[in-house]
Amino acid sequence: MSIRENLHHVLETLPEEVRLVAVSKYHPVESLQEAYDAGQRIFGESKVQEMCLKHELLPDDIEWHFIGHLQSNKVKYIAPYVSMIHGVDSLKLLREINRQGERIGRTIRCLLQLHIACEETKFGFSFDECRNMLDTNEWQDMAYVEICGLMGMASNTDDEKQICKEFASLHEFFSLIKGLYFSEYQNFKELSMGMSDDYLLAVERGSTLVRVGSRIFGVRN
Ligand SMILES: *Cc1c(COP(=O)(O)O)cnc(C)c1O
Repeated sequence: MSIRENLHHVLETLPEEVRLVAVSKYHPVESLQEAYDAGQRIFGESKVQEMCLKHELLPDDIEWHFIGHLQSNKVKYIAPYVSMIHGVDSLKLLREINRQGERIGRTIRCLLQLHIACEETKFGFSFDECRNMLDTNEWQDMAYVEICGLMGMASNTDDEKQICKEFASLHEFFSLIKGLYFSEYQNFKELSMGMSDDYLLAVERGSTLVRVGSRIFGVRN
């Protein structure tokens, strides 16, 4: 099946209000161009250098979402054009994003990453750490950062019950945080969860942004 067909299969299964981030990491620009020609405008990448290269080569109206683990010293390379940073997992990183945003006069949209999986390896705040960070109130003074919501990855397992439980817990936390900290921030509305194997479960539990890669572009090298 072609990228165009895969893309349309995924889109057909999504409610209209859920947006699709086509995760194109490790795939060549030709594949992204194919998805672009089929109408896709939001792409997700997880390596800074790779995203910058692709951004140079592809059309300007693409929204580039950074979905990987971002090191503070690399924020400056993506700050001028990135549309959303999904994986913010420390106050230090948030400070650096704000600093780089200020330097170039651009407000950068961010999602806070929560650790919801049972694996040790995945990045992100615990629920407590996230609340402690928000309680510092420092983020409120960051004029060049806009916190637009939360992001999370479920455990890599076939156990659908477990996956659903994790997504539901993130949705619940999202509602709590929204009420406690963001009731006056209308742009706090995104819940980024769901990948190729679990995006339908994520949508059922309130995802607004699904990050789907291999189901569109095939297996990665
Ligand atoms: C690679 C990646 C995805 C996409 O994974 P697929 O299983 O190929 O859909 C989604 N989110 C993040 C954070 C990723 O790193």
